Amino acid sequence: MSVNEAKATASGTVSQVLQPIRGRLIGAGTLAALGSMLTMVPLAGIAHIAQLALSQGDAVGNWAQIGGQVWQVLGVSLGCLFLGMILISLGEMIAHLADNRITGHLRLAITRRLAKVPLGWFTSRASGEVKQAMQEDINTLHSLTAHFYTTLGRTVGAALIAVLYLFAMDWRMAIVSLLPFPLFFLFVARATKASSANMQAFGAGMARINNAVVEFVNGIPVVKAFGVEGKAHGSYREAVDAFAAAFTDFTRPLVSAMANAHALITPVAVLGIVLAFGTLFVSLGWITPLQILPFALVAPGMCAPLLLMSYITHDLHNATGAAQRVHTLLHTPVLENLAGTAPLLAQNAQVRVEHLSYSYDGETRVLDDVSFTLKPGTVTAIVGASGAGKSTLARLLLRFFDPSAGRITLGGVDLRQLDTAQLYRHIGFVLQEVRLIHASLRDNIALGRPGASQEEIEAAARTANIHQRILALPRGYDSVIGEDAQLSGGELQRVSIARAVLLDPPILVLDEATAAADAQNEVQIQHALSRFARGRTLLVIAHRLDTVMHADQIILIDNGSIREQGNHAQLLARNGQYARLWALGGYQQAKEKAQSPC
Ligand code: ADP
Repeated sequence: MSVNEAKATASGTVSQVLQPIRGRLIGAGTLAALGSMLTMVPLAGIAHIAQLALSQGDAVGNWAQIGGQVWQVLGVSLGCLFLGMILISLGEMIAHLADNRITGHLRLAITRRLAKVPLGWFTSRASGEVKQAMQEDINTLHSLTAHFYTTLGRTVGAALIAVLYLFAMDWRMAIVSLLPFPLFFLFVARATKASSANMQAFGAGMARINNAVVEFVNGIPVVKAFGVEGKAHGSYREAVDAFAAAFTDFTRPLVSAMANAHALITPVAVLGIVLAFGTLFVSLGWITPLQILPFALVAPGMCAPLLLMSYITHDLHNATGAAQRVHTLLHTPVLENLAGTAPLLAQNAQVRVEHLSYSYDGETRVLDDVSFTLKPGTVTAIVGASGAGKSTLARLLLRFFDPSAGRITLGGVDLRQLDTAQLYRHIGFVLQEVRLIHASLRDNIALGRPGASQEEIEAAARTANIHQRILALPRGYDSVIGEDAQLSGGELQRVSIARAVLLDPPILVLDEATAAADAQNEVQIQHALSRFARGRTLLVIAHRLDTVMHADQIILIDNGSIREQGNHAQLLARNGQYARLWALGGYQQAKEKAQSPC
């Protein structure tokens, strides 16, 4: 994509994001333009009065003659000034109200969109990306919506009226007085071009320093413990030095060129040019000294809006990037439901996985033609080496993503025909990664059933073995994790089990999560799970659970395909991969338990 194409896409994105307030922004910009035109009138008025006064000489009679005219010009000038200020304020107010509106609109639109994106999208993205768009990017857009269009209007209005007025006065003087302004834009464009070559090195240096800081901070305990401080500081210092060099290369051409450009459009410089050329033109007999006055007053009046425009153009670059990120988030692919309404599902609906394939990147199949059935009330264990595709299978069952090929049905209905509420009423889950929202423990447990009573919440917490622990917290069920309560990984896991218990789903998917828990917690979690799982259809992604040997069916996945299927005894008798795994002690804990006399 060429630079021009990229710019066109960026401005297209900005206008799409700002579409809901486009009319208001154009209105605000127009008011600001009209206002700024009117505020330039007093400058012409002063020039006019001065010309009148100086051309009439000192005689008292002459003053009496021009008095009326002076008052008239003064009145018109003041009127224009006040009206202009009112219009500019009105424009600013409309722009700020529009900004407020778009901020609310975008936050709501992003939230609505994210509610429809596959749950799997969240696991593959850092929450930082969403936070960046929701908070920082939307705030950055403020400079675009609340300030850019009104500033543009003011600059264009001031420039337009000044150019028209000065050319009406004298075209030769108009050309020389206005010369600094196009020259300013020329210098700025050249400076930006010169430094854009170093921009990439600057960006890379910045990224390197960010990584070095994270590495440095993360590594502090190890560094201190092993006494290699100098080494860790070394890579950080290198990154800082490289960044400093890139920064100098980036800013050196920019700073001096920008300083020159800005110096060119200071009121003093513009006035100097007007006076120098004015004197020359007077000596050439082209104009009279009095004709210099309008130029000396009006041309410097254009400096302030142009400088403001130049500063705000800097922010525009950031705002365009922010608008693009917000736009991307607003267009995140959502889960598409199949047409047709889903029939009511029976409580004992059966899950069938039919020729299921899945690929994260559209190339490598992580699951390939997997088919099996979860009969109501049975326990199925999925086993296999790390990276075989077990968790992916669990995520597909929970519709974190939709299959690349094949389908999963619940009671004969494709999952893509069910709405999420219906799906999660039937299939509950406890996954390795526990996600709690920033709310009380009560609200966290009742997440799927906000109307649940305190008794129901407590009963669920008891089943999950976490009730006593919650009561021991200073504010009990009102405690907020991270604020006034700290729970261990295993305890958080039990909170997530309580959440699943409260929903009382007939089918439960467990991505066995005991690896991170200590022995005490592991026992508690096992008890909680076996109490909860009783009588339900259970799918366990087994890493080392003793449910494996008691499961009704065990499915061994290898490299995304089902390699072996049967119960513990059948698979051992087969003497295949499962038997080898068993013999190797891959399921050591279960083996020990199976062999122990009690
Ligand atoms: P298991 O649970 O059996 O350890 P997974 O289902 O987690 O296996 O992973 C199966 C394969 O898919 C692995 O090769 C893994 O690297 C890949 N994978 C898992 N999650 C993602 C993801 N979010 N994006 C891309 N690839 C992934």
